[in-house]
Amino acid sequence: MNTTDITTGTIFNIKRYAIHDGPGIRTTIFLKGCLMACPWCHNPEGIESEPELLHRASLCILCGDCARACPEDAIQADPQGLKIDRERCTMCLKCVEICPSGAMQHVGNKMSVDELMQVILRDRMFYEESGGGVTFSGGEPFLQPKFLNSMLDECKKQGIRTAVDTSCFVETPIFLQLLPKIDLVLFDLKLLDEKPHQRYTGVSNKLINDNITEMDRAGTMSIMRIPLIPGINDDKRHVLGFARIAATMIFLEEVHILPYHDMYREKVAGLGKLDTKLEFKNSGNDALNQLIELLEAEDIKVVVGG
Ligand code: SF4
Ligand code: SF4
Repeated sequence: MNTTDITTGTIFNIKRYAIHDGPGIRTTIFLKGCLMACPWCHNPEGIESEPELLHRASLCILCGDCARACPEDAIQADPQGLKIDRERCTMCLKCVEICPSGAMQHVGNKMSVDELMQVILRDRMFYEESGGGVTFSGGEPFLQPKFLNSMLDECKKQGIRTAVDTSCFVETPIFLQLLPKIDLVLFDLKLLDEKPHQRYTGVSNKLINDNITEMDRAGTMSIMRIPLIPGINDDKRHVLGFARIAATMIFLEEVHILPYHDMYREKVAGLGKLDTKLEFKNSGNDALNQLIELLEAEDIKVVVGG
């Protein structure tokens, strides 16, 4: 490919043949860094903007190889588990190289636009045949605006359709500047009221709501994603509110409802971060069914999972 763009991004995962991140078969690129900290986040390794060390306890066979390989004596392994002293860790990655089970992982790599395009272009045939393309997810892709801009331009040059999965917690000028380059926006709707939004996600929802309004006004096709969290946003008021917002959007293609599942805790523990200790009680399928009914009554396509 003939490009002189040397912009680099920090990527924590690349998922090829993805089928839940927009139409058709897609490559989903996960960009690192997010300003929100939702306790139900499925990708907590995307929150920090810099590369980090992740220990997956469920994969660990407690062999102790990592502790013996660590030149900083930063790892303690005993039959009860493994502890990493992150103050001592210099990110030399010797523990990752030696780990036989893949439990010790390095999360986050710098990649140039050219390098990433080479990965994306491998599956061009699948995008063309299935109506798919590339989805930029995260983390929050808009937090690496130069890189995202370059990637969107390069995809456009190659005739590859693009989607961005965003929290919409983005400076509005950046959001509006990049929107015309994006074919589809997947956005989250989490809580209706500002105070609970601030409490659970760490930020106000005012900017998010404004950006969603601007996006629809700009004519951008979108998919609304609702993580349905027991005890947090599955009450009747939220269900009615989500359905009302969806019904007012002109360019909304469909709504994806994402029932909660507890992937977060092991990853949070493995990143050395404090758990929020927030317990989500299972409240059954009433809210899910009611939301589906309300949306379908408005002729809005609903996908559960997504
Ligand atoms: S990255 Fe290096 S310093 Fe850090 S825990 Fe692993 S081996 Fe030790
Ligand atoms: S080397 Fe891997 S499997 Fe062995 S104790 Fe360390 S993290 Fe666990």
